Amino acid sequence: MQLVFEQIRAGGDRNLGYLLADRDAGLGVLIDPSFSPEAFVQRADDQKITITHVINTHSHPDHTSGNAEATAATGAPLVVHADAPTAAAVRVVEGQSLAVGSLVLQFFHVPGHCADHVLVYEARHRLLITGDLLFVGKVGGTSNDADARTEWDSLQKLLRLPDDTTVWPGHDYGVRPSSTIALEKASNPFLRVPDAGAFLALKRDWPDVKQKYGLR
Ligand SMILES: [Zn+2]
Repeated sequence: MQLVFEQIRAGGDRNLGYLLADRDAGLGVLIDPSFSPEAFVQRADDQKITITHVINTHSHPDHTSGNAEATAATGAPLVVHADAPTAAAVRVVEGQSLAVGSLVLQFFHVPGHCADHVLVYEARHRLLITGDLLFVGKVGGTSNDADARTEWDSLQKLLRLPDDTTVWPGHDYGVRPSSTIALEKASNPFLRVPDAGAFLALKRDWPDVKQKYGLR
């Protein structure tokens, strides 16, 4: 099969969304079309792809704002985690898969940044859509220590995937717009800490660390 995979800049706060498709089958999905649903639908049309599903990584408004327009334009149902408050036709849970042509998209439930956050993983091409759980060089914000601990546990799940898995985040917050599990293990300060306690401490100290190392 021929893979179609496009990272699309959606506007907003450097939001990134994705078109993922099986060209031979002519079928694909849109992920987090957010602020530019028309641009995502246009890319699918240009690639002659019929969109079978619109997927949200999580229910924050900057990821869901394009849902109504994207689903109306494509006729495709919205896919969200079972706990999401979003009205959606398809609700997925941990470990569930979705076939799109010959692609198999696996969903992992990864709460912390948001209770209904999912990762989307395509094992054959080792593509991992990480939403706001993992950015390049950073991790998603959390509002309290309990959520930060939950996020730590979710990150451990992600780190069990193969090192050459490519990482595709929900915002372009890093030094490049994508990464790999190996690169993040080697360079992301939030993945280099030894345990949840150190992870919480780094989150607390992050404003100072950023300033010290000139990070943005
Ligand atoms: Zn978010």
